[in-house]
Amino acid sequence: MKKKIGTVWLGGCSGCHMSLLDIDERILDVAALADIVKSPVVDSKEFPDVDVAIVEGAIITDQHLTEVRHIRAHSKILIALGNCAVTANVPAYRNRVTKEEALKCAYVDASSNDSAGQMPDSPELGKLLDRVRPLHEAVKVDYYIPGCPPSADLIFYVLSELLNGRTPNLDKEKLKYG
Ligand code: SF4
Repeated sequence: MKKKIGTVWLGGCSGCHMSLLDIDERILDVAALADIVKSPVVDSKEFPDVDVAIVEGAIITDQHLTEVRHIRAHSKILIALGNCAVTANVPAYRNRVTKEEALKCAYVDASSNDSAGQMPDSPELGKLLDRVRPLHEAVKVDYYIPGCPPSADLIFYVLSELLNGRTPNLDKEKLKYG
């Protein structure tokens, strides 16, 4: 029976997802072994039960926190993909100031702001956490694929090992944080 993969993108840019897509035609090898049942382009209301969850980006809002806890509860294996998920990386620059200072800087003081100094208040945006967190501070992570963005070769290697029932060998030589 085919395994199920779900991918999700929390706080970060789209670079990690582009790397995932850079697997190119090797995605056919993955597709032979697994169905991608959730991704930014495969819409479904809730993250479903999966064998492998690939989570990109850092935890920035209360919604991210709820989402990553839900994903953990519904995944056999959870992979932190990219430096934002692994270390909090660029989004964590905000941790140098308070949440209130960061919001004021982005929404009130910024000269490029066209919203006339208004703080965002849509409930859909979620509430910023006091500090940005990497995934492992909120949930158990089984595998880390660092990089900004991580290489498509490494992503493919880890996925193909897991989908074939093997344990990926992620020794230091394979891991690059840049
Ligand atoms: Fe973007 Fe780099 Fe973060 Fe990936 S790790 S989401 S490429 S900033």
